[in-house]
Amino acid sequence: MSKAVLHLSEGMEPGFLREVEVEAGTRVSLCYQCGKCAASCPVSFVMDLEPYQVMRLVQLGARDEVLRSRTIWLCASCTACSERCPREVDVAATMDALRVLARRAGYRPAEGQIALFHGIFLDNVRDAGRLHELGLMVRYKLKSGGLFSDLDVGLPMMRHGKLKPVPHRIRGTDQMRALFARVRAREAAAKGGEGR
Ligand code: SF4
Ligand code: SF4
Repeated sequence: MSKAVLHLSEGMEPGFLREVEVEAGTRVSLCYQCGKCAASCPVSFVMDLEPYQVMRLVQLGARDEVLRSRTIWLCASCTACSERCPREVDVAATMDALRVLARRAGYRPAEGQIALFHGIFLDNVRDAGRLHELGLMVRYKLKSGGLFSDLDVGLPMMRHGKLKPVPHRIRGTDQMRALFARVRAREAAAKGGEGR
């Protein structure tokens, strides 16, 4: 995919950099645009902004350009970028933080089915304490309407034992559910606070 020429909108927000750094727990301001993050990224070919472009836009305070980008939703959180960054910027944590900020600000994910996927992923982890890949796939396929797509990949994976039919539950799934409930309550309280 050819990368976008950046068209910055009028309202740059200098406070955005600080907001992102606090949420992500990393110093985006240290990025010096070497591009190693993009070179390490396995999914940069489908992104509309390269990871280093996202870092630059955050430095510039281009809130809207960043929060409506597809890149923040396509990031697979693999952390390859964070491990290779010579300035020790945690790019993966920054992408995470940007998704949180986008949701909090009411941006719809720029990738159509990504919110559905994230929701099913989290429900899956909440219920079993860890990911059950087959359950995730089946629920996602049912809800997204593509039940029989990717069978050419899924069936060989099942044959080779890569997709377990039954979830492997951790001990203490009650604690996991309680943890999710606390996070949801905190999010609801944060939203309520913003509305006041
Ligand atoms: S690898 Fe680090 S310093 Fe280099 S562009 Fe990416 S975030 Fe910036
Ligand atoms: S964490 Fe995201 S941005 Fe970084 S290399 Fe992985 S997919 Fe790319």
